[in-house]
Amino acid sequence: MSEKIALMIKKQTRMLRDRAKERINKHTNWNLQKPVTSWIAEDRLHDEMGYEFTIIFRTCACSWARSDDAGCTMCGYFNDKGPDSILQSQILDQLQYAISKHLKKLDEIQKEGKKTTIKFFSSGSFLDNEEFRPETRIEIIKQVVNLPSIHNILAETRPEFVKEDSLKSLMAVCNEKPLELGIGMESSNDYVREILINKGFSSQNLKDSIKIAHKCGVLVKTYLLLKPPFLNEKTAIRDAVQSIKDAVTWGADSISLNPVNIQAFTLAELLFNHQKYRSPWIYSVISVFQKALTQEILDRVLILCSPSAAGKERGVHNCHDKACNSTWLKIMNEFISTQNMDIIDPKNLPYEECSCWGEYNLFLERSPI
Ligand code: SF4
Ligand SMILES: [Zn+2]
Repeated sequence: MSEKIALMIKKQTRMLRDRAKERINKHTNWNLQKPVTSWIAEDRLHDEMGYEFTIIFRTCACSWARSDDAGCTMCGYFNDKGPDSILQSQILDQLQYAISKHLKKLDEIQKEGKKTTIKFFSSGSFLDNEEFRPETRIEIIKQVVNLPSIHNILAETRPEFVKEDSLKSLMAVCNEKPLELGIGMESSNDYVREILINKGFSSQNLKDSIKIAHKCGVLVKTYLLLKPPFLNEKTAIRDAVQSIKDAVTWGADSISLNPVNIQAFTLAELLFNHQKYRSPWIYSVISVFQKALTQEILDRVLILCSPSAAGKERGVHNCHDKACNSTWLKIMNEFISTQNMDIIDPKNLPYEECSCWGEYNLFLERSPI
């Protein structure tokens, strides 16, 4: 039965990915010297509030999304891919573009006495040699490690690319600044991850990659998905709660809870368009934190959540009242900034302020989606 479901999910995902490919192949005016985007924003660091300097490189895209398996059911990052022929020198040009654009701000942050995490995203894997050759990775780190205010480095990767030799060569140029790998664990449940998300790796693969990273002195941030397609709200909360507890046991140094947002050409979008999927409620995010976290966990692991499209229909939201969404997002952000459980203590929360709290509780009990 699971095999049949997995095949159906893969088939639909492949069909949508092929449609995305057709659109991408029509591009003729790429500017491959510029990254997809880059920004500096406030961010919660391991010990304090600071900044993130994020660069999303345009590469040949995630190997898993490029394969016949077609990628994960909620992920539309493939839409930002460049041509397969993109050169490594163009990736270094993208880095230069982002540095020049943000250097002044990095200087200001340094003068403020604050720290910045530099984050390398590519909608794929920094450790995949097809996206970033080993010498490109080393060059990228060398060029950023001594920029003003840069305190640590985060790069995203799938677990199959986590190898001791790659990590050791990167650590050698990090100038003793912490290196962290961001890995999309999504769920600790193999059925949810492998079948419903079509993620393509097992819990064991993930645990092995965490071990290798730690052996090399590299930290690990795990991304967990709240409400993958095909889970209803209540089951999704249970899955995320268990996944947080397991991620802690498996050795994550930080955990980012990512409520699903609807991205183009994905199975999540197809279900959303047919009213078979609703992005999670903000109440559910708070509920996951209340149920999963203890002070002991917060003392060991940094908990993060910075959802895309928050407050909008395609992202985590409560009702259509802007004030309600903004109140609850503020509570969520304050909890992340402070890591203080009192902020999400039920007795301190304004549950009765909006009538959608009642609607939410009915939805939890009755909704199939
Ligand atoms: S979520 Fe990550 S692994 Fe999955 S398709 Fe997207 S980039 Fe690839
Ligand atoms: Zn509301």
